[in-house]
Amino acid sequence: MRAQPQASHYVGGQYVESTNGADLVSLYPATCEVIAHLKAADDQVLASAIATAKAGQKIWAATSLAERGRVLRKAAEILRRDNRDLSVLETLDTGKPLQETLVADAASGADCLEYFGNLAPTLTGEYIDLGGSFAYTKREPLGVCVGIGAWNYPIQIACWKAAPALACGNAMVFKPSEVTPLTALKLAEALSEAGLPDGVFNVIQGFGDLGAKLVSHPDIAKVSLTGSVQTGQKVAALAGESLTKTTLELGGKSPLIIFEDADIENAVSAAINANFYSTGQICSNGTRVFVHKDIRDAFLARLAKRTQAAVLGDPLDEATHIGPLVSKPQFDKVLSYMELGQNEGARLVCGGGEARVAGLEGGYFVEPTVFAEVRDEMRIAREEIFGPVMCVLDFTGEEDVIARANDTEFGLAAGVFTKDIQRGHRVIDQLEAGTCWLNTYNLTPVEMPFGGHKKSGIGRENGHAAIDHYSQIKSVYVEMNGVEAAF
Ligand code: NAD
Repeated sequence: MRAQPQASHYVGGQYVESTNGADLVSLYPATCEVIAHLKAADDQVLASAIATAKAGQKIWAATSLAERGRVLRKAAEILRRDNRDLSVLETLDTGKPLQETLVADAASGADCLEYFGNLAPTLTGEYIDLGGSFAYTKREPLGVCVGIGAWNYPIQIACWKAAPALACGNAMVFKPSEVTPLTALKLAEALSEAGLPDGVFNVIQGFGDLGAKLVSHPDIAKVSLTGSVQTGQKVAALAGESLTKTTLELGGKSPLIIFEDADIENAVSAAINANFYSTGQICSNGTRVFVHKDIRDAFLARLAKRTQAAVLGDPLDEATHIGPLVSKPQFDKVLSYMELGQNEGARLVCGGGEARVAGLEGGYFVEPTVFAEVRDEMRIAREEIFGPVMCVLDFTGEEDVIARANDTEFGLAAGVFTKDIQRGHRVIDQLEAGTCWLNTYNLTPVEMPFGGHKKSGIGRENGHAAIDHYSQIKSVYVEMNGVEAAF
């Protein structure tokens, strides 16, 4: 199986190679086969990406809003046209089942390009009457923006950053995760085919050190990172030195609260989506599932039955529900938490270890795992695992469960299941989380702003809110009368 791109980087509207960069390989996590050999960007590639982005940005910022919108919408059409090929590539790069990548990756990236393409022509300023004189505002681009991606939703993350940045007239240098370098290159190709001027969207490959070099580059105006809290802290510190603007989309340990009046079947579906989709590798996952004591046993019985029915296997088979984890470090980490949960005294309901898939013995497969009788202080209930490990905790009182749900440094997402409309809104109101769901979980349509409270992040992606993070307002006061001075 090969997924070798024409070259490692896409700079100035074409593929370029770096002769001096470190080796960077992409593995298919279901077999550990190397599917692509790439090179990290050397200093020359980095310098040329920034230089071409600076030049491209000037041309792009002078392009009409309507034309910017047309280019983004055309790129959306191209992603939809190529969805199957892009989905197979994403499956090879990440190990996520094709059943998912066909609907959730390039497809959501296309929705995002279309949304911001439609929004572009509306990005106007305002007229402010000052009684004779007046003021107006202009919404101006920031300049060259840096995007740094995580490995769980590679093309989606690239689109979530590129689409609003480009709609606002910025250029972008995007560094994918070193674990999943491939599909961002395809986005760059699609944008070129759609008519984006050369240099406006560039992709360069590399590890954390390249990310740090990009963040501290004097010619960049903004950085948007999707990654862990630890990386977010480093990026924020570096960006702070030059007061570079930041958007940080970081980790979580989100609560999903299921009250006694909830529809149990729907609540089980939501808990499954909140923990096992993408093999549990989703930042907003509701990994602390608080279930009211009165329905705990019924909930766990249905959950165990349905989890055991999940098809774990070849990600390229469209019948497969759960694929492998993305990498060996992630595999080791998730297995260590499965062991820790048992050592900490949680009750293992199902799963709990490595999974063997016939014909794919080298893959990073683990069983979808449910722990019950989890207590708040256990490490499995406090730390982000980023794998298919669900912690079920009991509760009885509303105030108590809200306090426990909020007792975390994270604040990315939260969910509530209840048929009591007042209670639903009352509880959501008190949850310290940037994205909340009532009677569902993990749906992130592009129209809805997405981002974290507390240590889960700074800024928002998606929705109109993203525009504020990729543009700046210039206010212009126009004097229509004389100027008075004291002396
Ligand atoms: P990571 O923090 O290890 O890496 C993220 C990116 O940052 C990679 O491209 C990496 O090369 C780069 N990087 C590493 N060190 C850097 C540095 N010092 N300076 C600049 N860049 C640096 O995260 P990961 O393992 O790729 O992804 C998993 C994490 O991402 C989880 O914590 C998850 O919750 C989070 N995540 C958040 C969201 C969100 O939208 N909130 C979405 C997906 C993933």
